[in-house]
Amino acid sequence: MSASLATVAYIGAIILFILSLGGLSSPESSRRGNLYGMIGMTIAVLATVFGPRVTMAGIPWIISAMVVGGSIGLYAARKVQMTQMPELVALMHSLVGLAACLVGFANYIDPMAALNLSSAEKAIHEIEVYIGILIGAVTFSGSLIAFGKLSGKIGGKPLLLPGRHFLNLLGLLIVIAFGYQFLHAETISAGMIALTVMTVIALLFGIHMVMAIGGADMPVVVSMLNSYSGWAAAATGFMLNNDLLIVTGALVGSSGAILSYIMCRAMNRNFISVIAGGFGGGAPAKKSGGEAQPAGEVTAISAIETAELLRDAKNVIIVPGYGMAVAQAQHTVYEITQHLREKGVNVRFGIHPVAGRMPGHMNVLLAEAKVPYDIVMEMDELNGDFPDTDVAIVIGANDIVNPAAQEDPGSPIAGMPVLEVWKAKTSIMMKRSMATGYAGVDNPLFYKDNNRMLFGDAKKMLEEVLVALKA
Ligand code: NDP
Repeated sequence: MSASLATVAYIGAIILFILSLGGLSSPESSRRGNLYGMIGMTIAVLATVFGPRVTMAGIPWIISAMVVGGSIGLYAARKVQMTQMPELVALMHSLVGLAACLVGFANYIDPMAALNLSSAEKAIHEIEVYIGILIGAVTFSGSLIAFGKLSGKIGGKPLLLPGRHFLNLLGLLIVIAFGYQFLHAETISAGMIALTVMTVIALLFGIHMVMAIGGADMPVVVSMLNSYSGWAAAATGFMLNNDLLIVTGALVGSSGAILSYIMCRAMNRNFISVIAGGFGGGAPAKKSGGEAQPAGEVTAISAIETAELLRDAKNVIIVPGYGMAVAQAQHTVYEITQHLREKGVNVRFGIHPVAGRMPGHMNVLLAEAKVPYDIVMEMDELNGDFPDTDVAIVIGANDIVNPAAQEDPGSPIAGMPVLEVWKAKTSIMMKRSMATGYAGVDNPLFYKDNNRMLFGDAKKMLEEVLVALKA
């Protein structure tokens, strides 16, 4: 493929990526957005593999690597449960970081990479390598820790080392000092020492940064690492002189940064405080799923009683959370919704921005169950409607409906906006036990007078409710 044809293909791919991001901004157009992204990526891969910078001898190697990588990806994507998706995404981010590191090191030791460069160009090239490896290493280790935290292999409680801000600052100063040494290194081996020291510090920083973040603030970290992976890809693009990779990386980096900002706003957090760590895990933070301390009487309710309350209701709001994803209850939820709507009940869904374990998690599940988009509302759109709501059903959600966020200034989730389900005439919490949610915080909603607990697996209980409703 000629250089100009490859350039045209790259421009086409870039346009498709931008259209893809535009499509992903609303549920109605998201399928189309995904399709644009897939076509764009196919064009990008073909134009790169058969482009002017790959020799014929290199093609079998690239194709072999693609077959191995593609098979692993295909296997992982087919095997992964929907609830494990956020972990898989975190793992993928770590691979982008690792790739940036490897490309950086390879680029530095490649005698051809800096051939025929003026001293200014060589300095720029070395700065690209240094910064590329730095971002890549932070992304790599940070994403691995995020993977551990999301999969529950590492506890959600923040690790707060004494003098952690000082440690971070010290790390930064060492990285700058070694950066200076790297740029003035006389030999490749002297440069490699500086690069290696910086990489170790960046890896430690990535671990420290994510370990210091409390359970409830993980959504910000996930979107932030998403952004870092974009910048790592852009840095790789600079190292390889690949314009497509630079633009694509910048698109991912900036859209991830915007998402982090949206997540911070949704959680009423200051971005810098989240990055500096230690947020979201005050005193009582326990490991996700731990037993909450009893703080009053709870009133249990049966599936039949739930069906009766629903039958008498005019307005119902359903609040889904992570437990709905675990139980795969979205289809049964929609069957109940259809039944109630046929009987003239006004049913709407209230979606919290950080419900579930990844941005948009609930929207994806509800779209899969074919719930119409016009009854799926964002938190801000219906939070004022709870006082006029007869029944609010909380399906496997916990942190996002926790009144402690408003009522207890000492709570680790204090200040986070929540869905005010307790303002409905009756709220029903559907979960298996009295366990806490991801943030490990006790939930006073359990003990409110107008709250009922429907204990059991969400799918099983909803099926029982549906049978009772139809009876
Ligand atoms: P939570 O984790 O707060 O609560 C989920 C609840 O679901 C649990 O208390 C659990 O209780 C219940 N549950 C689990 N399995 C089932 C089942 N099979 N049937 C019925 N119930 C079940 O989830 P929320 O969605 O309310 O909040 C999301 C939390 O995750 C927030 O803290 C958020 O910060 C965090 N987070 C969000 C991310 C995002 O991007 N959206 C990313 C990372 C973290 P029990 O065991 O008693 O059944």
